[in-house]
Amino acid sequence: MRYAVTDAFRYAFNCHCSQCRRATGSAFKPFAGIERKALRLTQGGGQAMIYGDPQAAHDVHCGLCGSLLFSVVREGAYVHVTFGTLLDPPAIRPAAHIFVGSKAPWFEIADALPQYDEFPP
Ligand SMILES: [Zn+2]
Repeated sequence: MRYAVTDAFRYAFNCHCSQCRRATGSAFKPFAGIERKALRLTQGGGQAMIYGDPQAAHDVHCGLCGSLLFSVVREGAYVHVTFGTLLDPPAIRPAAHIFVGSKAPWFEIADALPQYDEFPP
């Protein structure tokens, strides 16, 4: 699957919550948020694998490779796009680590970004 998204992200974080760790199979998920209308599926949309409530919050995975492309959040108004699936580097960079309160105990954050137990203030 392919998508196109405007490089006008509103915020970006590294999320350490258990759902993001599960969805990515990794220590945390770098993502950037933007209005849902800024993203469109350009190829293979019929192959999407939806995890969650299709009418509400859900994750959209590529049905062929399983990669988590983005999550629909905030009553469907926003998408959280995974940095790892962007082909071109976005202008924004993760500003902080969030949900550090549920971080994996085997992972040490080694950078100087701010850390928040849950959502940023
Ligand atoms: Zn998360």
